[in-house]
Amino acid sequence: MDSAVLLKYDQRVPRYTSYPTAVQFTDQVGPEQHAQWLGEVGREEPVSLYVHVPFCEVLCWYCGCNTQVGRHQNTFENYTDLVCREIDMAAAHLHTKPRAAAVHWGGGTPSSIGPARMARIMAKLRQHFDFLPDAEIAVEMDPRVLSADDIVTLTRDMGVNRTSIGVQDFDAEVQRAVNRVQPYELVAETVKNLRAGGIADLNLDLMYGLPFQRQDNFGTSADLAVGLAPERMTLFGYAHVPWMFSHMKLIKDEDLPNAEERLTLFDEALQRLNAAGYIHIGLDHFSKAGSEMAVAQEEGRLHRNFQGYTTDTAKTLLAFGASAISTLPSGFIQNKSAARAYMQAIKDGGLATARGVGLSDEDRLRSHIIERLMCDFQIDLEAICDQYNVPVRHLADDMDKLRPLIDDDLVAVDGWRVDVLPRGRMLVRMACAAFDQYHAPDPEKPAHARAI
Ligand code: SF4
Repeated sequence: MDSAVLLKYDQRVPRYTSYPTAVQFTDQVGPEQHAQWLGEVGREEPVSLYVHVPFCEVLCWYCGCNTQVGRHQNTFENYTDLVCREIDMAAAHLHTKPRAAAVHWGGGTPSSIGPARMARIMAKLRQHFDFLPDAEIAVEMDPRVLSADDIVTLTRDMGVNRTSIGVQDFDAEVQRAVNRVQPYELVAETVKNLRAGGIADLNLDLMYGLPFQRQDNFGTSADLAVGLAPERMTLFGYAHVPWMFSHMKLIKDEDLPNAEERLTLFDEALQRLNAAGYIHIGLDHFSKAGSEMAVAQEEGRLHRNFQGYTTDTAKTLLAFGASAISTLPSGFIQNKSAARAYMQAIKDGGLATARGVGLSDEDRLRSHIIERLMCDFQIDLEAICDQYNVPVRHLADDMDKLRPLIDDDLVAVDGWRVDVLPRGRMLVRMACAAFDQYHAPDPEKPAHARAI
């Protein structure tokens, strides 16, 4: 990689898990709008479901998720009751019983509330949604708080068929520096139990840019992760934003790799993953050659939602729990972020809507362009504009914004066709930003992680 060129683009850009991004959500969208938009969900196309559990036993200092330390069974019990109540309330606004193609559990640590409570929420979802026989049921897991018995309950009783484990790094010094001590043996044992439980689709997360990471120790971590033979791997860049998450102040600036070192770490892991037969699907996702996700990308069927890259084709996502974001036919809705505020709102008998944004025709066009660029690294703008009855010249100014990327051989343009070249793939978000009408970075108030 030509680091001098790439580092020029180490700017703050959205991850484009949605468009418009969450930065555009406002409190102009509240519970009334939420209820009305739920009423527009039809039965023709299956929906996806998401449940957020905002509790963890201990806080990892790099964490950018909406979570808090929680250990009290009473809190877990109340939270479970209230998520069930929220599902009942949302279902009352639906004019149909939708079919469900997927459920994704995220957090926080979903299993922190215990498998029995998770099963109770699943039963509530099954009461209000018709699950497709091959529905995907995915759970993010933390090996430090997951026993072999928990795994049996989750896979056998709840039907969990996909999991993702946060590894980040196997090096003991790195683990201590981020307050996530999780030895290799523990992760290997969890993987063995998950496989015994029938899990055929496993993802491991690695993270580069953490304190004390070097080319050699991070390369070793990547090799150890590859040795566990997951179907998919994610290689996230740590976003150090202590002004947004105060616990990140516990990570010392001087222990962090600089931008050039981050690039080296990414490249090191990339080489090792490629050598082991993982294909770079997009931005930060890798998948075994021939896997469902790799084939979906080849065939232009890959999608992007709040969980990242996915083969899930549902356009509607109904999300429950604190901070959960729903994608509804007319726009995005986010619940109150703080667990306490979320729980109080549901207890008071209303939806816990905090904010959202409605979708204009222009947003839908740009959302389509950005999603295809993120997933396919190429796009025929003329064909897409035809679908939206918009003359392609409408995008002339946006094409001009690609000029620096074209001059640096990161993007190629032929007429109205745009290709993100292999050496520019890590910066695909910069190409997407050219088509983002709202992207106006404020250096005083950075709202996104850096591109590298
Ligand atoms: S386990 Fe995951 S969600 Fe919980 S603190 Fe660590 S990184 Fe954050």
